[in-house]
Amino acid sequence: MNPAEWLWRTARLSPDRPALLSGETVVASYGTFAERAGALAARLAGAGVAPGDRVAVFAKNCPDYLIALYGIWHLGAVAVPINAKLHPREAAWIIGDSAAQVCFVSGDVAPDLAEALEGAPCALWPLGDLPETGAAAAPYPIQPSDEIWLFYTSGTTGRPKGVMLTALNLTVMTLGYLADVDEVSPGDAILYAAPMSHGAGLYNFVHVMRGARHVVPLSGGFEADEVLDLGESVGNISMFAAPTMVRRLVDAARGRVGFDGIKTVIYGGGPMYLADIVEAVEVMGPRFVQIYGQGECPMAITSLSRAEVADRTSPNWKARLGSVGRAQSGVRLRIARADGSKAAAGEIGEVLVQGAPVMAGYSNGAETTAKAIRDGWLWTGDMGALDADGYLTLHDRSKDVIISGGSNIYPREVEEVLLTHQGVHEVSVVGRPNADWGEDVVAFVTLREGANVTEAELEALCLANIARFKRPKSYYFVPDLPKNNYGKVLKGALRDRLAGMTG
Ligand code: AMP
Repeated sequence: MNPAEWLWRTARLSPDRPALLSGETVVASYGTFAERAGALAARLAGAGVAPGDRVAVFAKNCPDYLIALYGIWHLGAVAVPINAKLHPREAAWIIGDSAAQVCFVSGDVAPDLAEALEGAPCALWPLGDLPETGAAAAPYPIQPSDEIWLFYTSGTTGRPKGVMLTALNLTVMTLGYLADVDEVSPGDAILYAAPMSHGAGLYNFVHVMRGARHVVPLSGGFEADEVLDLGESVGNISMFAAPTMVRRLVDAARGRVGFDGIKTVIYGGGPMYLADIVEAVEVMGPRFVQIYGQGECPMAITSLSRAEVADRTSPNWKARLGSVGRAQSGVRLRIARADGSKAAAGEIGEVLVQGAPVMAGYSNGAETTAKAIRDGWLWTGDMGALDADGYLTLHDRSKDVIISGGSNIYPREVEEVLLTHQGVHEVSVVGRPNADWGEDVVAFVTLREGANVTEAELEALCLANIARFKRPKSYYFVPDLPKNNYGKVLKGALRDRLAGMTG
């Protein structure tokens, strides 16, 4: 199914229904939303973009973001949303890798991106300059196996990987939301308080399908008090929130009365501590649902329902609340031992997923795809255990990904930047527990003989090459790094060393 067909249906039936809101102000009805998306598709076609071509979006959250996405899909093209927090050089790399010929940009990032592209053939189209009206053909008849969203994850190998998500992947994910996460009705609203290029943006589909409202906060991001205020003024709000956002929301909510305007907070993206979710429900009531997913199977691996998150009476409620719930309706789960055999109930192994929401593969990555999807199963890289009732508890991440403020940071990417410094000999980047952010990035560095390297130089190197949020918060200059017999750095030993230092 083409998501633009969902938009057209809603627009034909209820053209005056409010669709896009900037803060509490309605900026487009469904009729306008669909017309502008159709007009944009015609403009893209006029510029030579064809169905199946990739079109990038490098912009902060704004209502026009959705018009750009639906314009792309209306034409049958593939959206390549790029996290606005990335460095322009990283965005330029993604544009090159995806072969996008057009990239929608917000005004603030356009000059830096133009410079980073170094003359590469990609036209930058300002989001503030989308057509207001225009005639449009019907949405292109996208087939289930057609790619519609190319989602760049931060790759463990240092470069991001383009996850190819098809119309079928995202249709089943969307229907799974209605089956396993929450109901949605036209009076509801989805609030984009996290980047629309990432998980939060995926919530648009079910809300377009149901003709609900889409709200972009004026701050463009997550401000806890603003969210609570919008709950009161807009009403019936649902939102995705990483665990750190939930904690900040609950802190702001304490001392306020009535949260009836906040319908559902869907949390996930990183581990949620038991004490935090217990407190969240105590303060805000039964408004929380957990999901577990990853770029390769977005939003759709497991869910823990509102009732299960709020349950305090079942004998095993604590274990369930500490889990990520059960498999969603569109997928099957399995825990595998290192040799691929099936683990017993309660035994920890790698989490495998099979089903319609699992990606088609990595773009330009036959080898990485073959590693990730084996015998029809997606190997998630997450370690976990299933209990006899099918509840999945995540125990560790087999990859050494650092999750800070809900964003994934892959150590190798940071290490590669630091290693470009002439004076740096070896480097290893690990996560250090942080009460507010989940984890901080910390770098252990060894220097070449006679070299003199300062923290400030390494900081400047990171700022010039990677997104701010990925740069280390602390550096430790050490004589050598702990290694195993194969010469592989023992990150676990470094984490232990950090634990010893902090407490
Ligand atoms: P991404 O591909 O950026 O969405 O990151 C996906 C990863 O985040 C997963 O592979 C997990 O390691 C982690 N993750 C996602 N949801 C949860 C959750 N509910 N609890 C714990 N970790 C999660």
